[in-house]
Parts: sequence; structure tokens; C-alpha cells
Amino acid sequence: MPEGHVLHRAARLQGKRLAGRTIRAASPQGRFSAGAAEIDGTTLEAIEARGKHLFYRFDGGRVVHVHLGLFGKFRVQTPPFPDPSPNARLLLSTDTDRIHLAGPTTCALLDPDAVDRVIERLGPDPILDPVDGAERLTRSLARRRIPIGAALLDQKVVAGIGNVYRAELLFLVGLHPFVPANEVEPEVLDQLWKLSVDELRAGERSGRIVTVRPADVGERTRSALGRGERLYAYKRQGRACRRCGTDIVSADIDGRNVWWCPRCQPER
Ligand SMILES: [Zn+2]
Repeated sequence: MPEGHVLHRAARLQGKRLAGRTIRAASPQGRFSAGAAEIDGTTLEAIEARGKHLFYRFDGGRVVHVHLGLFGKFRVQTPPFPDPSPNARLLLSTDTDRIHLAGPTTCALLDPDAVDRVIERLGPDPILDPVDGAERLTRSLARRRIPIGAALLDQKVVAGIGNVYRAELLFLVGLHPFVPANEVEPEVLDQLWKLSVDELRAGERSGRIVTVRPADVGERTRSALGRGERLYAYKRQGRACRRCGTDIVSADIDGRNVWWCPRCQPER
């Protein structure tokens, strides 16, 4: 599933092309025809991301809420536009650009109050709330006895972290994924928050998740690393930890796998 950096990047790049423009909207698949008709011919004022959610704000207060879920995918197209795929839920186009959206979990027209309700249910977003997010995270985890690894995927706790960033952030901060959330020291949570801000911002800029530090991969730069060299823990079970050589292990938390190094992230 795309993590928060993907949505922030989509908001920024799509906004450059479409914000401030009069938009033609259509739903070739048909499942969003009524919503598309409502925004067709109106001006797209802004595209905003929060966590894994996107909000397309049109003049007159109409907002299209998109959540990609597991299978949703954007394509950015330029003329000559290809025929849309039959499962295109939403096309947003001008003469020069087209956003093609297929397979989202959510694509719905919301009024501003409903948008606020979606946003109120979300925890701090590392990209949007770098300054006060650590305090909000600390407060919210103080009430939770669930494993820190489970808490980090709960979008009410922190918005935008998915399975890749969860494993990598826990590695970077040296936390075992099964430590109860309310037993993690405030200074460790502070560090975890700062790392999540830095890592999601880097992911937003580059469009990919690269967490390994040059010192652990022969001083090569992030951009020089190939697939399979960019992460410390995610999907690396049975392979040697890049820092200490111990085999990475994995386990299930709430139906999702988590990976960690037993030596760099000791059990308490
Ligand atoms: Zn290790």
C-alpha cells in the first residue's frame, strides 16, 4: 500500500499541473459519474494530502476525497491522451494534462464538514506536523498498551506510516516492535518522530523509500543504491543485518508482518 510520502508527492506534482485550472471531470468506469458531473467545469483550487488521504478542493466548497488503498493507482498523462482504461474511476483533465485514477478504495464527493471529520480521526502527519507531532504522539501512546509496532500502523496515532516505514523507523531507533507503546521513553519517541519527519520528507522528494545510511553501505549515496540495497529490515528475514550481521527476523502483528534485527533492536 502506498505510504504517506506517495500521497504528498502526488498532491505536489498533480497540483503543479492542475491547481488553479478549470477541470473537466469524468468517470469512464461509471462508479463516480454523479460526483464527476458535479465538479466538471469548476476550478480546482488545491490538492492536499494528509496521511494516506488526498483532498481535491474545488471552488464552491466541493471536495473529492481519495484513498488509494491496496490497489489504487494514479497516472499522469499528457496529450495525445490514450483511451482511458475501462476501470478509470476518475479523470481530471485540462488541455495539457490528465490525472487518471483507477482502483482506489475511496473516491467520494464530500462537503467541508465531512472532510473535517476525516481529518479529525487522523493522528499527526510527519510531513505536515513536524513541530508539534512528537508531543501528540507521546500523549496518544501513553494510553496504549499495544505493541509499538501495532501503534505505528494505526492512522489515529500517526498518519502516513505504512509497513515499510514502520519496520525501518523501528530499526533506526533501535526499538523492538513488541515493546508496549506506553513503555517507550519520551526521548525515544522524540527521536522516532524526528526520524519519521526526515524519512518521509526524503521519500516525498525522491518518490522512493531509502533508509540505509552511507556508512552502512560503503559510503555510497542514497541515489546510487539499487533495489534490495535501500532498506535495513523490511522483507529481509533470514538475511544479515547491515549493521551487525545478525539474521533479520519477522513476525505477525495484527495480520501484518513486521521485520527487525534481534541484536540492534533487543527485547526488553
Ligand atoms: Zn543488527
